[in-house]
Amino acid sequence: MKKIQMVDLQGQYKKIQPQVDKAILNVIESAAFINGPEVKQFQSDLETYLNVKHVIPCANGTDALQIAMMGLGLEQGDEVITADFTFAATVEVIALLKLTPVLVDVEADTFNMDIDALKKAITPKTKAIVPVHLFGQCANMEAVLEIAKANNLFVIEDTAQAIGADYIFKDGTSKKAGTIGNVGTTSFFPSKNLGCYGDGGAIFTNDDALAHIIRGIVNHGMYKRYYHDVVGVNSRLDSMQAAVLKLKLPLLDSYCDTRRKAAEYYNDKFSVSNKITTPITSSFSSHVFHQYTLQVTGVDRNALHQHLLDNNIPNAIYYPVPLHSQKAYADKRYKEENFTVTNTLIETVISLPMHTELDIEQQNFIIETILDFVR
Ligand SMILES: *Cc1c(COP(=O)(O)O)cnc(C)c1O
Repeated sequence: MKKIQMVDLQGQYKKIQPQVDKAILNVIESAAFINGPEVKQFQSDLETYLNVKHVIPCANGTDALQIAMMGLGLEQGDEVITADFTFAATVEVIALLKLTPVLVDVEADTFNMDIDALKKAITPKTKAIVPVHLFGQCANMEAVLEIAKANNLFVIEDTAQAIGADYIFKDGTSKKAGTIGNVGTTSFFPSKNLGCYGDGGAIFTNDDALAHIIRGIVNHGMYKRYYHDVVGVNSRLDSMQAAVLKLKLPLLDSYCDTRRKAAEYYNDKFSVSNKITTPITSSFSSHVFHQYTLQVTGVDRNALHQHLLDNNIPNAIYYPVPLHSQKAYADKRYKEENFTVTNTLIETVISLPMHTELDIEQQNFIIETILDFVR
């Protein structure tokens, strides 16, 4: 059996090695490392794939969130609501911009923002909602949009874990994750579903005026060379990363399918145990399984984590500490009874190896090792 990895980037690279090597060499030979033609080509390919008017590439997914919030003109003291159970980047940029993060609990079955909790968190100071499409499926966007409309709020979708997922509206139409709210953001970190070979990110919007503002912000606030109209940042996707992404974008749907098949196989085999809850797929979203995350009950989760490591099965606890309990984001207004789901999830979740190169032999070994332990 091949050594099991949490994410097998080497195995994935081997399958496209000649094309990738050639694309990278082309960039080196052209010496157009920054703003080379690959960046524009990838941007345009991604606009077509997502069916969105504007993609603005940038340096990483954290910058993408920050720049989206800057572009919307959010100001000090504005409250921005996001999920308690997510990667810290989401809340970090809110705090960094001196906006006020307001964390809300998530749903136990989808791990995504709880709509009732969101409603309760709205105050006259609320200006934006940041739903995070966690682990590869969309938050309940129709409900989020309705609440945003009723309260005149911006919606910023953190799509770092769900690029390629489809959101299915009640009328049967669908849109790509990240293109539903006012603005969406993503990350091309190597282990994400569409990963480059370094750092990368992007911002998506259908709003022409917002796209214009954001294009200036990523480039030092310049709309005309050496005229700085607003305070901006330096956040670029470099040409080598764009070349890799341009090559991998046409493979994204098949990558997501492969992950989905692996998830179905896990789901089926774990169904024999009543101590294991497998991830559900919402009726309103496809799932691209950035993570495959189980919840275990009546099982010592930390002991299972260690047992798997002892058997050379990598696995991870995403996330071990809720954001509302992090020192940096403590707020006297938070009450533990409002975070019962997140407080439970941090003790019951365990994410298993999930990637495009996982084979049946590896999956069977992972499954048997887990079922043996929980029995
Ligand atoms: C990865 C990730 C980010 C940040 O992306 P980087 O490219 O690492 O800056 C933001 N939000 C979520 C939910 C993520 O998973």
